[in-house]
Amino acid sequence: MKHKGILVVVSGFSGAGKGTLMKKLLQEYDRYALSISMTTRMPREGEADGREYFFVSKEVFEEKIQADGLVEYACYCDNYYGTPKEYVETQLAAGKDVILEIEIQGALKIKEKYPTALLLFVMPPTAEELQRRLVGRGTETQDVIAKRLRRAGEEAKGIEKYDYIVINDKLEECARELHSMIQAAHHAPYRNEDFIENMRQELDVLVKGEK
Ligand code: 5GP
Repeated sequence: MKHKGILVVVSGFSGAGKGTLMKKLLQEYDRYALSISMTTRMPREGEADGREYFFVSKEVFEEKIQADGLVEYACYCDNYYGTPKEYVETQLAAGKDVILEIEIQGALKIKEKYPTALLLFVMPPTAEELQRRLVGRGTETQDVIAKRLRRAGEEAKGIEKYDYIVINDKLEECARELHSMIQAAHHAPYRNEDFIENMRQELDVLVKGEK
């Protein structure tokens, strides 16, 4: 049976370790394509344009919105973030599972546009651990950390809208779990409507032939 690619949305609090988890998932399995977002935030040390993000000015971002070049976009902690449309559509058509690592407003927009998208939410084992990871990263000021923790509190209210939660405690285990969830999702009836309909028609033909 030929599977079509699934659009997989991965959200989670800032500092939950999504970035590392995505890298691990892509390293271990080759059936995933990670979408690279466009953002107006400044690159952090070690980030490269076209690898973690396409870093652009507010003007360029707004032009992209006008040209209908984004599948979704949102404003997060005073910066724009958005998913370029072309990559998502070509990779899905090629049968890849496309991963969007995006925040909750964007996730909900995706669910509206693509009702069969799979929504996963990554959480740290405890809130204290989240704070520890954010401080330990050493790339954000106290003020930004406080803002992101407040934002995590807000995002926590929307978790029930996701299909599954993923607890990011041990990286390898977590990547394996994530992979199993995505692969299981391929087997949901509503993601296999063509196959099921085809089976019904074939059964119908067989039954009629018996008479
Ligand atoms: P960061 O600044 O830590 O890289 O990302 C901040 C938040 O923006 C994260 O929750 C991340 O998942 C989210 N984000 C990254 N790219 C996109 C995007 O294209 N669209 C939306 N809606 N959120 C994004």
